[in-house]
Amino acid sequence: MAQEAGRLHYNGAVVEQARQWVRSAPAVVALTGAGISAESGIPTFRGSDGLWNQYRPEELATPEAFARDPRLVWEWYQWRRELIAKAEPNAGHRALVELQDRKKDFTLITQNVDGLHDRAGSRRILKLHGDIWRLRCTVCRADWPDRRVPLPKLPPHCRCGGLARPDVVWFGEPLPDGMFLEAEHAVRAAQVLLVIGTSALVYPAASLVPLARASGAKVIEINPEETPVSSAADCSLRGRSGDLLPRLVAPD
Ligand code: NAD
Repeated sequence: MAQEAGRLHYNGAVVEQARQWVRSAPAVVALTGAGISAESGIPTFRGSDGLWNQYRPEELATPEAFARDPRLVWEWYQWRRELIAKAEPNAGHRALVELQDRKKDFTLITQNVDGLHDRAGSRRILKLHGDIWRLRCTVCRADWPDRRVPLPKLPPHCRCGGLARPDVVWFGEPLPDGMFLEAEHAVRAAQVLLVIGTSALVYPAASLVPLARASGAKVIEINPEETPVSSAADCSLRGRSGDLLPRLVAPD
């Protein structure tokens, strides 16, 4: 890809510089968003072929929407679970497993709910927005894994009889207890933060970028499109994570 204006570039020398930062950092954090799974065929929320060009998020991914029409929300999740079940982790997911195996201190923070990082072999994952393969009771709050595709009955119910919901974080809901503190802790200790495939519009996840900068870490962004984070990154690589991540984690 040709060099573009300012920092928005991706050429051999810039990728090599970023690779050296990653190679020499004792502690690395990767923050991933829907974009890392795009090459596995899972639509992102934003971007030209995003899910939300067809569906309005406020109709589907909020507690209010679920209270209004649990079946509609579950039909959408059922559709997403079917798509994800057919997908395979891609070279970007696998490159992060390689990095995990090579670094003493590596933390993966994801906004994704699809489970493809787990399937690729990532071990410790801070799943800020939950997991589409888990369900949670709206009454007794029990949670459990359920990988059945399709689910036999919509909406699903708990053993206690209560209505079950996807164990994901919807707009307006808090993140799982303590998890964001853990993410902040990891970012403060890192020399490199990789920001991969996220539109960097969803908070508090996006606030990890200024935190990394304030702690003196190098921020390397990988995204085919410019985002609000691009101008603050030490290096913003315009490209696909499945192409670029394997190059960034390649050994000497
Ligand atoms: P987003 O949909 O807002 O943005 C996706 C970003 O990925 C865009 O900036 C896009 O330019 C970039 N992108 C597209 N293809 C790419 C590629 N091949 N390589 C690298 N980047 C690429 O995603 P987000 O910032 O994660 O949005 C936040 C919300 O979306 C989260 O709450 C997350 O739970 C949810 N979400 C998750 C999934 C999933 O689990 N796979 C899918 C859709 C949305």
